[in-house]
Amino acid sequence: MHTEVFHKNELLDRESLDKLQAIRLKNTVFQASRSKFYRDQLYHAGIKVADMQTVDDVRRLPFTTKEILRTQYPYGMLALPVEKMNRMHASSGTTGSPTAIFYTKNDVETWGDLVARCMYCVGIRPKDVFQNMSGYGLFTGGLGIHYGAEKLGCCTIPAGAGNSKRQIKLLKDFHVSAIHIIPSYALHLATVFDKLGIDPKSLNLRIAIVGAEPHTEAVRQRIEEIYGIKAYNSYGLSEMNGPGVAFECPEQNGMHIWEDAYLAEILDPKTQEPLPDGEIGELVITTLTREGMPLLRYRTKDLTRFLPGECPCGRVHRRLDRILGRVDDMIILKGVNIYPMQIERVLMEIPEVGQNYLIVLEREGYLDQMRVKVEVKDDYFVEDMRVLKGLQQKIARLLKDEILITPRVDLVEHNTLPTSEGKAKRVEDHRED
Ligand code: ADP
Ligand code: ZN
Repeated sequence: MHTEVFHKNELLDRESLDKLQAIRLKNTVFQASRSKFYRDQLYHAGIKVADMQTVDDVRRLPFTTKEILRTQYPYGMLALPVEKMNRMHASSGTTGSPTAIFYTKNDVETWGDLVARCMYCVGIRPKDVFQNMSGYGLFTGGLGIHYGAEKLGCCTIPAGAGNSKRQIKLLKDFHVSAIHIIPSYALHLATVFDKLGIDPKSLNLRIAIVGAEPHTEAVRQRIEEIYGIKAYNSYGLSEMNGPGVAFECPEQNGMHIWEDAYLAEILDPKTQEPLPDGEIGELVITTLTREGMPLLRYRTKDLTRFLPGECPCGRVHRRLDRILGRVDDMIILKGVNIYPMQIERVLMEIPEVGQNYLIVLEREGYLDQMRVKVEVKDDYFVEDMRVLKGLQQKIARLLKDEILITPRVDLVEHNTLPTSEGKAKRVEDHRED
C-alpha cells in the first residue's frame, strides 16, 4: 500500500516497531536514571537498565503520576542540568496546580517533527496558510502546534486564543486554509460568524485540527458541516510534550499513537493490569525519545481503549479511540456513574439543540440532582410555551435513556451560557456548597 508520509517511521511494520520500541525503552530507562528521582525509584524497585530487554519489560517499571510531578516541581525530574534545557511549558492546570515540563534542543526538534507528521498525515501541505487559534504562552497548544506547522513549511499565523472578530478577519483576509482550534471554541465561533452574517463556508478553509478537550463524534460532525471542512482529532498532553501524541489519519477512525516516540498501555484503573484491545481503561504512556525529562509509565488519567484491527491507511501504529474523559471527570449521581461525553453525545444529536450546554449538579435537601442547561438554536426558540415544553421533555427522555437518571432540563437562548477561550468547563458541582 502506498501512503505518502512525513516520516519513514510512520510506515514501519509491527516487528520493526517492536524492536525500535525495545531499544528506545532501554535508552529511556538509562536516561531517566540520570535524574535523582528515577535513580532512587529504580534502585528501590530493584530494576537495572540491563533488565529492559523487550517492550513488555515496561511493566516492571514504577508509575509516574501528576502528583509526583507536582512534588518534584520545579526541577526535580530533570535528567540533565538546566543549562541543557531549551524550553519550558506547563499543563493547563485543569485539575490542580500545573506541572512543569522541560525540553532540550533535541526534544524541541523531535516534538516539532511529530506535530508536522500529524499535520501532513491529514493532508496539510506547505502551500496551506495555517492559523493557530489556541493560547500561546505556557500552554503547549500554542507553540507546540506552531513549530510543527512551521516545520511542515506552512505560512503560520499565531492568532492565539479568543478575540473572535479578529480571528474571522484573519481567516478571511489571508485566505486561511487550515486551522487549529479547540472544539468548543469552534462551535462558539460559529455563532459569531452567524451574528456577523458571514457564512463560514464562504471562506477558503478546508481542514481543522481539533483537540485539547474531550468532544464527541457529533461535535466533530457539526464543525465539519458548519465550516464545510474536514476536522481531525488531535490528542496530546504537556507531560508527553503536548500535541502530537496521537492523531487521526484521513480514515477518521481512531487516533494513531506514534509508537516510535511513545509506549502506550491501557490499564484497568483499579488493578493496573493491562486490558485487552477494545476495553476501556486508563492510558499510561512512557516517553521513548525524550532526553531532558523522560517519563516512565505516566498515568494520564485519560480513559480510552485501543481499537482492534488494522487501519486501512497502512500505518500500524496503534489507534486510540476518542478520549471518553478523565478518570476525575466521572460524575457519580445517585450511585450511577456518568461521563459528560455521554450527555454531549445525546444533546448534539438533537437538531434543536444549539452549540453550548452546561451540566449543573446540585443538592436539594438530601437529594442530589442534575440540571442540564441547554442552548436552543434561534430558529427553534419560539414563544409558544407548549413547543418548548415538548422539547424539554424530549431532551430529558433521551438523556434518561442514556444515563438512567432523569435530569432537569433548562432551555436557554443561544449564546447565553458561559464560553471560554480555552478548554470548556462542562460541569459545575454545587453539591457541597
Ligand atoms: P491539563 O491536564 O491541566 O488540562 P494539558 O494542557 O496538558 O493540561 O492537557 C492535556 C489533557 O487534555 C489530556 O490529558 C486530556 O485530558 C485532554 N485532551 C487533550 N487532547 C484531547 C482530545 N483530543 N480529546 C480529549 N481530551 C483531550
Ligand atoms: Zn490510519
